[in-house]
Amino acid sequence: MTNNKPIAISLNFDSLHEAYGFPKNFRDPCFSDGFNRIAELCAKYSFPLSIYVVGKDLTDPERASAVKEWSAQGHEIGNHSWSHHFNLGSLSSVELRDEVHRSHDLISEITGIEPKGFISPCWSTSAKLVEILLELEYSYDTSAFPSFLLYPMVAKIALNHWQKPLKGFRALRRRDWLGPIKFSKHPFYLDSKMKVHNKPGDGRLLILPLPSSGRFSSAIWHTVGFMFGWDFVREAVIKLGKEQEGFYYLIHPADFLGKNDMNEKYNMSLARMDVPLKEKLKYLDEVFCLLKETKRPVKTMKEVALSVENIGT
Ligand SMILES: [Zn+2]
Repeated sequence: MTNNKPIAISLNFDSLHEAYGFPKNFRDPCFSDGFNRIAELCAKYSFPLSIYVVGKDLTDPERASAVKEWSAQGHEIGNHSWSHHFNLGSLSSVELRDEVHRSHDLISEITGIEPKGFISPCWSTSAKLVEILLELEYSYDTSAFPSFLLYPMVAKIALNHWQKPLKGFRALRRRDWLGPIKFSKHPFYLDSKMKVHNKPGDGRLLILPLPSSGRFSSAIWHTVGFMFGWDFVREAVIKLGKEQEGFYYLIHPADFLGKNDMNEKYNMSLARMDVPLKEKLKYLDEVFCLLKETKRPVKTMKEVALSVENIGT
């Protein structure tokens, strides 16, 4: 079965500044070289990006002007919360509202466009989060992880932050442990009680789950290639890219940094720094080429969401 509905490239902008808490004057290469390398490949294929930014990062004028520029170039800017708490979904109502609203307001102010898409740090979602996104009239959320791989991934994120155990431990405090059982691999809708629906309707938020072949398969995003190999990623992209409704390919800026991008004392704490930069970019180029070969148009996530909504009605 072929599908001619749009697919997208989702860039979850986990800056190094945010992830590792580097000092205030640390110039984050994610916002310069990291982004530029991705954008160059996107330009080669005429693919737009959907970029989910952490609000707190944009309090720096240089980073804010970079994001303004990306938006002006036609990329979609989405919300990835204000301070990237790994347990976002389990925060109190007041804290959660603040995390979503502050980032929403600052992105709107910088770009002149209200964000319509969200992804939660560590895919941590909850009824309260859905309620807040509905209030702000988001058209979609991508915080669902419909594969059992979620459990080892959460454990890995917690362990990666062993130097800051309190931060890492937060990853384990979530309200959606049953997500991989409850969430479909196909786009679906959640109401503010976390009830799953197949059709759109009032008080229902469209969820575009992380692409996977099923609960017992790995979910597919770029980082998986470094863990399970590139043949695995390429095969999944060919299959899901052609068939799956609401398909998107998730990437992170840190996957496109090289050893020379920063002082050695910083890149020591980053994974995958031993893979040559040239090779890293080759993997992305190959995936983009496969996406082109699906013959489906590559658009923003906002447009993917719209095409899914149109089918559901
Ligand atoms: Zn993140």
